[in-house]
Amino acid sequence: MTFTIVFLIAFATSFGLRYWLSQRQIRYVAKHRAQVPTEFVQKVSLAEHQKAADYTIAKLRLGILENSVSAIVLIGFTLLGGLQILNLILIGSLGQGIIQQIALLVSIVLISSVIDLPFSWYKQFHLEERFDFNRMSKKLFFIDLLKGVLLGGVIGIPLLWIILSLMAQAGSFWWLWAWAVLTVFSLLMQWIFPSVIAPLFNKFQALEDGALKTQIEALLKRCDFASQGLFVMDGSKRSAHGNAFFAGMGKAKRIVFFDTLIEKLNANEVEAVLAHELGHFKCNHIRKRLLFSFALSFGVFALLGWISTQVWFYEDLGVMPSMDGYNGGLALALFMLVSPVFTFFFTPLGSLASRKHEYEADNFAASKSSASDLIAALVKLYQDNASTLTPDPIYTAFYSSHPPAPLRIANLQKSSAN
Ligand SMILES: [Zn+2]
Repeated sequence: MTFTIVFLIAFATSFGLRYWLSQRQIRYVAKHRAQVPTEFVQKVSLAEHQKAADYTIAKLRLGILENSVSAIVLIGFTLLGGLQILNLILIGSLGQGIIQQIALLVSIVLISSVIDLPFSWYKQFHLEERFDFNRMSKKLFFIDLLKGVLLGGVIGIPLLWIILSLMAQAGSFWWLWAWAVLTVFSLLMQWIFPSVIAPLFNKFQALEDGALKTQIEALLKRCDFASQGLFVMDGSKRSAHGNAFFAGMGKAKRIVFFDTLIEKLNANEVEAVLAHELGHFKCNHIRKRLLFSFALSFGVFALLGWISTQVWFYEDLGVMPSMDGYNGGLALALFMLVSPVFTFFFTPLGSLASRKHEYEADNFAASKSSASDLIAALVKLYQDNASTLTPDPIYTAFYSSHPPAPLRIANLQKSSAN
């Protein structure tokens, strides 16, 4: 009973906090909708500023609705007995065993995806469409969905089979083995992602020879960065939003530009954006994040190893475990459903670390490329993505992985003056 109360308190607090933060952000953005912030008056028109405000608010409102639905789903699965019923139905038709436990997890993923489907549909074909960001056809939406489901099955089911077998047969230190398997698996995925998985969804073409390529190669040389090629990705087939990223690791590292980015920015600006991304690499942010995530998942697996043997964990969340039979899928399902309620409270720590990294990457870009080109690129990207220039400070502190535009630009101006 105690854990039911702890869970309900955390559930109500995290739901309330989410709602309060979203409402704050909506009010703050609406309050500043009438006027472009003074430092942007030269670069951003009032119409663009208002589009950003309306887009931000529309996304937040949809988010509130989505959160409410997931809250109902979570309580439905746990305290109202949904998971228990599903488990019993599957035991009835498949008997006890690993297959039944896999079926349980797959059913939960499928049910959650079906509930999520109207939201992704609305987001893509109403919200993004209304602000003229959608480039995706309805056919492509379903093809993506189908590919996602197949890929998830092909990769996820064998992985689940390994982890559930370890849970059933590897003794009380099963979680250590499971953690090792998952760590190796995620390294493998990073490695094969650019060459095997990403091409299933997008076309990648080598960046054409020309001024841009020459300029970027010079930057790579200046930063002493070795990669396996520069690629342009057809991001425009889904969205008008632009981006640049690295994919893969070690020698399989690729630099990928969205075609939408190259269209919108001039060569100097593309160079500055890439210099920022290289900054993340050169300041070891990528390696730090990876190591941190392995350490964190070690802790999570240790916790799972212990909590999955505690009867109260199941009973207080509305499920009857079979402690001497196959139980791994049930433990995983419950853990995956419930843990976000608790981890939500740590969001500001992750956001803070990320914003610190963004400043460091900006400073790197300012030293290896040009602060003023990066500022020009950021303003264009903020405009093109209709990101708000006036976020609520508390909302930003809690959620934002990037510092607000005015602070970021002020930091760059400072570093270019030095
Ligand atoms: Zn960054």
